[in-house]
Amino acid sequence: MKSSANIALLACGGTIDKDYNVLNGELEFTQTYLTELLKQARHQLDLRFETLMLKDSLDMTQNDRQQVLEACLNAPEQQIVITHGTDTLTQTAEFLADQIGAQKTIVLTGAMRPFRLAESDASFNLGAALMAVQTTRPGVYIVMNGRLFEAHQVQKNRQLGVFEAR
Ligand code: GLU
Repeated sequence: MKSSANIALLACGGTIDKDYNVLNGELEFTQTYLTELLKQARHQLDLRFETLMLKDSLDMTQNDRQQVLEACLNAPEQQIVITHGTDTLTQTAEFLADQIGAQKTIVLTGAMRPFRLAESDASFNLGAALMAVQTTRPGVYIVMNGRLFEAHQVQKNRQLGVFEAR
């Protein structure tokens, strides 16, 4: 009998997991919605889901990134997808790449609009990340906008609101 899942999905927060608060007009965290996203997708993956934190990535500290690193190292799975705010997605990817290298396949993704809001890119991005993690050689990557980038070779273009090679 198999003792662990094939893929770990680790939630860190970011816009992908925020919701609109009708009382104060803010985008904020209440719970993770990734389980709902996965249910809608009717996925057939052998997946373990864990919420590490629900933070805006601008508020993430080095301790938070250390926690993400340890979660990756301690995960029994070789394939790991991390959801994360897009503002410091490249920073965390670079940290993980520097610490873990090619020990595992790690794909970070996020969304520019929350899963809970219309016209969200959340399902598209998470679906692409889950596919990429199963088909890409070990290393640390970012999947956004339908593209796969190696850590250290990607930047967020804040004018266009997309990720691009650098
Ligand atoms: N500042 C937020 C974050 O990085 C919003 C950016 C996003 O997730 O798209 O978590």
